[in-house]
Amino acid sequence: MPDSHDSSVEAHDGPVDGFVTRFAPSPSGLLHRGHAFSALTAHEAARVAGGRFLLRIEDIDAERCRPEFEAAILEDLAWLDLRWERPVRRQSDHLDDYQAALRRLRDMGLVYRCFRTRKEVLAEIARAPHGPESAPFRGEPLPPAEEAARLEGGEPYAWRLSLDAARARLGRAYELMAFLQIPPQGEDVDFEIVPAEPEAAGDVVLARKGIGVAYHLAVVVDDALQGVTQVIRGRDLFEATHIQVLLQKLLGLPTPSYRHHPLLLRPDGKRYAKRDTAETLRAIRESGVTAAELRRELGFS
Ligand code: GLU
Repeated sequence: MPDSHDSSVEAHDGPVDGFVTRFAPSPSGLLHRGHAFSALTAHEAARVAGGRFLLRIEDIDAERCRPEFEAAILEDLAWLDLRWERPVRRQSDHLDDYQAALRRLRDMGLVYRCFRTRKEVLAEIARAPHGPESAPFRGEPLPPAEEAARLEGGEPYAWRLSLDAARARLGRAYELMAFLQIPPQGEDVDFEIVPAEPEAAGDVVLARKGIGVAYHLAVVVDDALQGVTQVIRGRDLFEATHIQVLLQKLLGLPTPSYRHHPLLLRPDGKRYAKRDTAETLRAIRESGVTAAELRRELGFS
């Protein structure tokens, strides 16, 4: 536990005015042990803070997401004894909200159409002078005549955020972007102001071909619309935070604080994944483990 002089203790120990957090799974498979840890972490933080816990279904990818997985998420979280507010926000019901945000970014000249295939993007990254690791994709709009011809030909395209345009728009504010990082519960470290460095992600896709929206944009719009004050999620999404903070700045949305919890790992040190079918909450439940036992195993009472 942190020392008593650590101010982070106060934030977790009593009601925090207006504390709102969320768990935001994608219904593209069954929840596993790692999801349970994440959901419990957020749920517990809301309980300790006397705040609100929301569940959000991130199902913009209609090809991968399925209603039966959404039903399983609700069933598994209820079995774990979590309580969340209703109605649950389902992203596929709110595509207009994401379109509106995309339109605003378009009106500000911050996004461009990208007709490249995934293969072409990878090839372009590989051609960059310092190799794939140090070269996130950066692009630019096509010359108007070429773009018009491709549109005419019905070629599919994604919308990418232009980091150059974003930097030009925000000026000095671009250099000053930062977010407040809350230490994971029980870690003896203080709050941290983390400078946001979206360059590492490159020109991210904000609207995927054939889907019209992409993860970063939907998350930023929803966190703001739902009044989320603290995003609690795994460390695997730390890099995503940098780009999401930039989007908040560009769209004039508030930046919540962020708590990135350590990932729950398998005994071999790897992350739990969909293929770990024995570790889905459903399989665990069917093996006779009780919710109370699993909660205790994961460090929750
Ligand atoms: N939907 C994302 C996932 O299942 C999580 C998004 C988030 O917490 O920001 O990995």
